[in-house]
Amino acid sequence: MKILVPVKRVIDYNVRPRVKPDGSGVDLANVKMSMNPFDEIAVEEAIRLKEKGAAAEIVAVSIGPVKAQETLRTALAMGADRAILVQTDDEVEPLAVAKILKAIVDEEQPGMVLMGKQAIDDDSNQTGQMLAALWGRPQGTFASKVEVSGDSVNVTREVDGGLETVSLKLPAVVTTDLRLNEPRYASLPNIMKAKSKLLTVKAPADYGVDTAPRLKVTNVSEPPVRQAGVKVGSVDELVSKLKALGVA
Ligand code: AMP
Repeated sequence: MKILVPVKRVIDYNVRPRVKPDGSGVDLANVKMSMNPFDEIAVEEAIRLKEKGAAAEIVAVSIGPVKAQETLRTALAMGADRAILVQTDDEVEPLAVAKILKAIVDEEQPGMVLMGKQAIDDDSNQTGQMLAALWGRPQGTFASKVEVSGDSVNVTREVDGGLETVSLKLPAVVTTDLRLNEPRYASLPNIMKAKSKLLTVKAPADYGVDTAPRLKVTNVSEPPVRQAGVKVGSVDELVSKLKALGVA
């Protein structure tokens, strides 16, 4: 089975985002960018499935600027076999990403698309679900456990009430949640080896997908600054303050 793993280059999760002074978006100039953390988890899970013999090939895909090649090289250094960059400088919205992924799925015929539950830059949490709909295949979202058995995959999902296990017929879309695994670090020899792995560069037009935005950002602003708290001297003082506020 072939596994397709979409990986997005996003602002690093340790960076505190700064809003552009004109409120048009987040300032990405000279900001550290990395692979979306949920996508790292997806790459790790694909490698584990390959190590267990449940997968034969892992293809990483990214839709983004030329620098997204670095993100793909990270996936290759972790253990993906080859990569596809669909190069564009446009901000590509989830529906266009899903359409491009669907075209790649038609070409590559993977048994599973294993991807992040959400990208931490826009927090959309849409692409996997849209891909499953366009492809007409089952989806197992927010996975905390993935087990392939024959032509099915059992996905344990993190839902509000606890855990739910669904059995999906392959091919299927699986999206990863935080507790699925802890991604490995790429070793230096593997980083060197990744440089010679195949990375194919394409354009959205090669898949007949129009990436023009359908959404308009009207304003991006910083969250309101939190008010400083007050230290109370005793429990009695706390209780009387709470009473004054009408909460005790
Ligand atoms: P989102 O729906 O934007 O929150 O993204 C969910 C998942 O879709 C991500 O974790 C990635 O696996 C995948 N994805 C979204 N955008 C891209 C992109 N530009 N390139 C590759 N994968 C993407």
